[in-house]
Amino acid sequence: MTDNPNATIHRVNHEIKRRCLQVLRVTDLTPRMRRITLGGPELSGFLSMASDDHIKLLFACSPQEQAALNNPGLDPSGVKPTMREYTPRRIDDVAGELDIDFVLHGDGPASTWAAQATVGQTLNIAGPRSSMVVPDIFDSYLLIGDETAIPAIARRLEELPATRNALVVIEVENALEQQPLTSPANLQIIWVQRHQQDLLEVLKHLPLPAGELYTWVALEKALTRQAKRLLVEDKGVQEDRLKAVAYWRLNEDDNDNA
Ligand SMILES: Cc1cc2nc3c(=O)[nH]c(=O)nc-3n(C[C@H](O)[C@H](O)[C@H](O)COP(=O)(O)OP(=O)(O)OC[C@H]3O[C@@H](n4cnc5c(N)ncnc54)[C@H](O)[C@@H]3O)c2cc1C
Repeated sequence: MTDNPNATIHRVNHEIKRRCLQVLRVTDLTPRMRRITLGGPELSGFLSMASDDHIKLLFACSPQEQAALNNPGLDPSGVKPTMREYTPRRIDDVAGELDIDFVLHGDGPASTWAAQATVGQTLNIAGPRSSMVVPDIFDSYLLIGDETAIPAIARRLEELPATRNALVVIEVENALEQQPLTSPANLQIIWVQRHQQDLLEVLKHLPLPAGELYTWVALEKALTRQAKRLLVEDKGVQEDRLKAVAYWRLNEDDNDNA
């Protein structure tokens, strides 16, 4: 054990603040990924310390939720706005801008909001509540995700120094969803097309990067669990150096095989 926070993975808690932000720009990155740039006076003081931080986006799906959204704190009925978790993709303190990249998957309050978003609209956000800071103590990084994880993966890649190796495996709907990703690190990216390749098969045959390895996984819930098991049991990845998080959940009635 060490008291030096720069020597271990550690959590930093933040005061949770709710902010009402304005849509400054809407940019389509790919056919299914839309960047919404937010700003406004309430962005002041926004802090995101880790690449996989998340904020809550608040939506009103009923008149009661709208009342709760309009009157934070009062909340007499106990009704809360609908919340969804998203990654702060880019923060520019000087320009006063926050980018959030949305997968337009076609359903749900967050995706539906992003699909119709226009300049001048508002979006309420809260958080991040905390940051899991991974200091630069590993030789190599194995980052595995799908489209929802691209914002966090892109942030981590941009933050890595040139002395590190990054192996990235990203499952996407099709080749049009492959975004350009850059890093000072020695970077290898494997794109897996969802309907043509099996992500778990790709992982099974993946040679792991050399040296001390940090592994990060963010996929649909069932796939996250399967990928974690495969990495730990078959590939020998050390569980205390692996973070695996379900980024979304396939509804059982979405797919009979789920
Ligand atoms: C820590 C964290 C960070 C995240 N960061 C991002 C981010 O930066 N960008 C981003 O786009 N997502 C991100 N996600 C994922 C996002 O929170 C979920 O996809 C969320 O369910 C979307 O909410 P919704 O209201 O659009 O759909 P929901 O109301 O949650 O779901 C509606 C329907 O859509 C399906 N669905 C949900 N997400 C997807 C998907 N990605 N693909 C296909 N079907 C889907 C559900 O199975 C359900 O049937 C993150 C999740 C976590 C936990």
